[in-house]
Amino acid sequence: MPTETKNKMQIGIPRAMSYYNYFPFWYGFFEDLGIEVIVSDKTTKQTMSLGSSLVVSETCLPVKVYVGHILNLLDKGIDKIFVPSIQSIKHKIYNCSKIRGLPDLIRNVVKKDFTIIEATLDKSEKNGGLYDFLKEAVAPFGIKDEKRIKQASKEGWKVMNNFKIMINSGLSFEKALSYAKKGQVVISNNQKSYPISVAVLAHSYNLFDDRISMKIFDKLEKLDVKAYTAEQLSIEQLQEGISSLGSKLYWANEYEMTGAAGHYLQDNNIDGIITINAFGCGPDSIMVERISRAARKFNKPVLNLSVDEQTGEAGFITRIEAFTDMLFRKKRASIINKININENAKHESSLPKESQHR
Ligand code: SF4
Repeated sequence: MPTETKNKMQIGIPRAMSYYNYFPFWYGFFEDLGIEVIVSDKTTKQTMSLGSSLVVSETCLPVKVYVGHILNLLDKGIDKIFVPSIQSIKHKIYNCSKIRGLPDLIRNVVKKDFTIIEATLDKSEKNGGLYDFLKEAVAPFGIKDEKRIKQASKEGWKVMNNFKIMINSGLSFEKALSYAKKGQVVISNNQKSYPISVAVLAHSYNLFDDRISMKIFDKLEKLDVKAYTAEQLSIEQLQEGISSLGSKLYWANEYEMTGAAGHYLQDNNIDGIITINAFGCGPDSIMVERISRAARKFNKPVLNLSVDEQTGEAGFITRIEAFTDMLFRKKRASIINKININENAKHESSLPKESQHR
């Protein structure tokens, strides 16, 4: 039964793809305009298999998952679903074609009666600014007052900025989002010291979807490994990271991969890099190859995890355990080596001068 009543405006937002980049903004924006935001349920095995059943098998996992979330919202009775087409986020910096074409894909594969709210954001086009995008997003609700839309966008930025501060401090995605929605800012005060640190690099929609990333953060915590992500870096650090790999920003979501890799490869506190990429993703295959090559120069071990709907949790855990075990052994060997060098140096300096020159 449709949950939308005559007096209540509702918009469905799939908990997938750009949800993991922009949801705090959308939440603040739509709610300020009196539009209730309904999010699809967390990804399950069923979300994946239902989504996969509607698209060709070569489609990357995040898109299959996205389709599954649309079906979930339709099951909830939501008849207006936000499926933005985010073409470009900066002049000549584009998203991959699957992200750009999402509204067309959904229209063609989900043959049900509902409204796709398909606002287009294209910063490479002359008239492709954020306000035009936002106007398009609320037009199906009959909202046209530009002042009101601008005001609501300020609320969106407020929630987004609070979210960014919290996730940057190391708070988990879920916690940062939950506090930001309530207008609160809580900074992570995790004082625990970890013997090993790794950078986990993946697009947000892979990393923060617990089903896709198989709760990798919980697994690393259990192994006593501190995990860092692109979320803890500033945009300047990510830009420098890309340049340090001798690369230029081309894909919109390159910051999360090569940008963060460029930074963490030069960070002596990071013992290794884990990348998670979707099987069949063209941009990722180029980025992961570039990261792996650069890592060899910096002598940093890399674990590449490729995921699709068949990926089993047991194999995933085994590979993470083997990788972190190797990092522990490598670190222990390097500490022992340093101790031996220092002991030898001390021993040599304590010898009488004559015997030193013998
Ligand atoms: S960047 Fe890769 S994973 Fe993301 S939508 Fe495009 S093909 Fe899929």
